[in-house]
Amino acid sequence: MGAPSSQAEIAGLAVVLRAYVEYQRELGVLGFPPARPSAAATAEHATAVPSPIPDLFSASGVGATGSLDELRAHIGDCRRCKLAPHRTHLVFGVGNPRARLVFVGEAPGRDEDVQGEPFVGRAGQLLTEIITKGMRVRREDVYIANVIKCRPPDNRNPEPDEVASCEPFLRRQLELIGPEVVVALGKFAVQTLLRTKAPITQLRGRWYDYHGIRLMPTFHPAYLLRNPADKRLVWEDIQKVMRVLGIAGGRA
Ligand code: SF4
Repeated sequence: MGAPSSQAEIAGLAVVLRAYVEYQRELGVLGFPPARPSAAATAEHATAVPSPIPDLFSASGVGATGSLDELRAHIGDCRRCKLAPHRTHLVFGVGNPRARLVFVGEAPGRDEDVQGEPFVGRAGQLLTEIITKGMRVRREDVYIANVIKCRPPDNRNPEPDEVASCEPFLRRQLELIGPEVVVALGKFAVQTLLRTKAPITQLRGRWYDYHGIRLMPTFHPAYLLRNPADKRLVWEDIQKVMRVLGIAGGRA
């Protein structure tokens, strides 16, 4: 990302950052204090920073959506971060809106970008096998989404400002679905959701709390395509998930 080149860009970034901080504060996460600025301070700030992004991104907008359909409509033809011009489709998520289990990956890849659905490429096929053959659950009975909704160019890692812009959508998705378990797939999703830099090898296979939801980190299916010997470890992690959910399953 290049440095902001104009007052308007700087003002835009400030607005996005302020909305994100406000959203996190509302949720009580990231250590943001619950205190709100005084009305006078808010008014002063609002006058000082002209908003090129009206209320669309505001935390109250995301928090006010009452269903996944409403959230999707709220996101709209999103241009809130610099990934927008690179996408073919915004990949919102797919599955049962009342799923007990949600899989969360990093970001759409090429196939997902083209089809508008998460985990449909080779890695997606492997995830589908884990769900259907391993867990013996239908893919449409779980929910699948990514932290980032638009494909980063050349599948590069999403950048912090992109995460800051997009993650509130995932947070709201999870609030609306209310799953019992989230399985975070791969280093990026795990580190982002848990706010840690610890390696996935250290994090996987253990339970964490993600805003009241049990979260199990495991390897990304794309990693398993390159390292098939580690399927055994993922199967161990998935079996822990199945025990919590009371799923008998089959064999991976
Ligand atoms: S990645 Fe997220 S915030 Fe960025 S344009 Fe896509 S939907 Fe909007």
